[in-house]
Amino acid sequence: MDQSPIEHPVRAAIVDAVEAGFDEQIRFLADFVRIPSTRFEEGPAQDFMAAALRKRGYSVDDWRIDLNDLEHLPGFGPIEGDFSRARTVVGSHRPSEVRGRSLILQGHLDVVPAGPAEMWTTPPFEPAIRDGWMYGRGAGDMKAGTVAALFALDALRHAGFEPAATVHFQSVIEEESTGLGALSTLQRGYRADFALLPEPSDFTINRAQVGAMWFKLQVRGRPVHVATAGTGSNAILAAYDMINALKKLEVNWNERAANDPVYKDIDHPLNFNAGKITGGDWASSVPAWCDVDCRIGVLPGQDLAEARAEVEACVAEAAREHPFLSNNPPEVVWNGFQAEGYVLENADEQESAFAAAYADVFGAGERPAERKMTALTDTRFYGLYYGIPAFCFGPKAENIHGFDERVELDSIKRCTEIFALFIARWCGLNRI
Ligand SMILES: [Zn+2]
Repeated sequence: MDQSPIEHPVRAAIVDAVEAGFDEQIRFLADFVRIPSTRFEEGPAQDFMAAALRKRGYSVDDWRIDLNDLEHLPGFGPIEGDFSRARTVVGSHRPSEVRGRSLILQGHLDVVPAGPAEMWTTPPFEPAIRDGWMYGRGAGDMKAGTVAALFALDALRHAGFEPAATVHFQSVIEEESTGLGALSTLQRGYRADFALLPEPSDFTINRAQVGAMWFKLQVRGRPVHVATAGTGSNAILAAYDMINALKKLEVNWNERAANDPVYKDIDHPLNFNAGKITGGDWASSVPAWCDVDCRIGVLPGQDLAEARAEVEACVAEAAREHPFLSNNPPEVVWNGFQAEGYVLENADEQESAFAAAYADVFGAGERPAERKMTALTDTRFYGLYYGIPAFCFGPKAENIHGFDERVELDSIKRCTEIFALFIARWCGLNRI
């Protein structure tokens, strides 16, 4: 069934419809990027997506996420911050006649912080097009892919068809910090035979991804005047000593990864990152406190409870030998991602249908490359806990999470064509 050929005139009509809608697609993408949907501020961007889905006639489910519904589910990560306005938006297509396999298309609209605006050539939330690329925070990760999926569905309609199976178009938040947006759709009951997440993969399929955990290292002491400071009682300097201890744990974990069946051929797959540091009150008081927000990668199959125990033991041991911290042991607070790694399995049907759509666009015999990621995506929830094969595939983007993030326009068009032809193959088509 996955090889169900698409007759040449149908294929041509779909590709033409993508081309015809592409200028509007890029305008729509720019409007979407212009909305600064950073963490806890995603509401206006969700409004934008909900309106776009309603306008197209999808039945829209727009709900507030209640943490009480999620905290007992596998993959849950704790939230630190105001989650009261968190929402998920799903637009569903239900066909007049079901003949194919159902599909979830999921995009996250949360974006990472832009950093200092002066580091950008043009402002991060004023999308600009230069030399065939669109620049802007979130343009690549992953608004371009989400919009490509939406306009792929539009192209099918403009070519005179609808998917002959249920399609859920899911707009989620929190991908960059806990994954609770994706988890909320599963808790709500959305299911399908496959979930495609159009993350910026540069036309590759992610075969495997690591997991990650977030924690806050809290160093506390007693403020004193700098004139009486002993060298060991400075919370900021003590925090650096803890960071160095954790870097040794990172080395140790990567040595173990060299024997991992999936990641043995990847150099340094597990990264520890001290990502944000705050501490002290002013220049002439010895800092009595320091917080460090950290992230550490874990291998697929690595037990998270054991991994957390190793991190806590590493900090406790380093503190024991520390002149200041031995009397003031720091705390480790788990405050975000508690994400397991994921390896794609049992997805032959999905992959071969997708490869066929890829070959429709790039030529017979061409196949998408695969990669093993040292980062993570929301696919893990589908694959690990709900038996729904899921992978990412999307356009070419650069500097995601950096300055001058950008996405290549031509790659967006190719992805839109692939998505439309894949939906045609996977779901089948009804004439409308
Ligand atoms: Zn992303």
